[in-house]
Amino acid sequence: MASQEWLEKDFYAVLGVPQDASKKDIEKAYRKLARELHPDHNPDPDAEERFKGVSEAYSVLHEDKARAEYDQIQLMKSGRGGFGGMHAGGGINFEDLFSGSGGSGGGFSDLFGDLFSRGGGGSHRRGAAQRGGDLRTHISLDFADAVKGTTTEIRMRAPGECETCHGSGARPGTSPTTCSRCGGRGLVTENQGAFSFAQPCPECEGTGSVVSDPCPDCGGTGATTKDRIITVRVPAGIGDGQSIRLAGRGSPGERGGPSGDLLVRVTVRAHPLFARDGDNVTLRLPVSFPEAAMGAKVKVPTLDGPVTLKVPAGTPTGRVLRVKGRGVPNKGDLLVTVDVEVPASLSAEAKEALEKYAAAAPGADRSKLEQLTGQ
Ligand SMILES: [Zn+2]
Ligand SMILES: [Zn+2]
Repeated sequence: MASQEWLEKDFYAVLGVPQDASKKDIEKAYRKLARELHPDHNPDPDAEERFKGVSEAYSVLHEDKARAEYDQIQLMKSGRGGFGGMHAGGGINFEDLFSGSGGSGGGFSDLFGDLFSRGGGGSHRRGAAQRGGDLRTHISLDFADAVKGTTTEIRMRAPGECETCHGSGARPGTSPTTCSRCGGRGLVTENQGAFSFAQPCPECEGTGSVVSDPCPDCGGTGATTKDRIITVRVPAGIGDGQSIRLAGRGSPGERGGPSGDLLVRVTVRAHPLFARDGDNVTLRLPVSFPEAAMGAKVKVPTLDGPVTLKVPAGTPTGRVLRVKGRGVPNKGDLLVTVDVEVPASLSAEAKEALEKYAAAAPGADRSKLEQLTGQ
């Protein structure tokens, strides 16, 4: 069940394994990444997308038949698929001959010239479909929007699919025609010494089609750069400095390659009262000494309107009281730190009352200081 998508995806890179990785190594790499990226454990908004990618890569690579099919498609894409067409005596595995050579020095490399000069692995050769580059931008969010999630629009000057020709590069009303040199294969066969092998067609750059009447707006490239408005869905609980990846919103690919991604880095503006501790929101609550000593019901602001918080009798300064469900939605709480305030000055009446209190109540217990230091 190979698909167009297989052409565009580097499953080996996704799992971080070499192309000759054993089944066991693939399994090991998958397990490790799946653990790290599972959305239940990883709050990073990119993690879910990566988790899906990793699962997809594994589903293909751990099955011998699917993996072989995928490898074949990748070979075709890189142009090395030409080996399939070689008639150089049966049984020689050219992949083995060249793996790791990096194209430098020695027999076959000389023979094939710059065909291998870019080496194997994730590199591409001229003529192959190429993924567009990632674009980066940044947004700044209010504290509450970052906690609760929001949808925002960014305006940016960026390359994207030409709207006139919808990326085909051909003048509207016309369409790209099949390349006459390669007959649409995208590959041409060259003879060199005893071998004949395929390489990307120079006429159509390996795409198999040519634009004879280019689109006037993009000059046949299929892409234009202009001011665009991009809608960004910000997940609840995003942290300052985290990035949101918008798949496929980066630069358009070349020669049929997929678009890159748009990475939106998020800055969260500080709130004068609230702060974050992971998925929890924190707040310092000034409480008077009588409230702390005798207990009180205190109105406390939250990001969703006020709540009444019960401060139990005998609450010391620094104690943290939890208001359930008032942090990151479905994840966090509001943590209220009690801050017992001492008045900076006292009225005569208040002073008199405190003197009465001091006479009636035990003083602060400093016995330990003496016990432990002898002073
Ligand atoms: Zn166009
Ligand atoms: Zn061609």
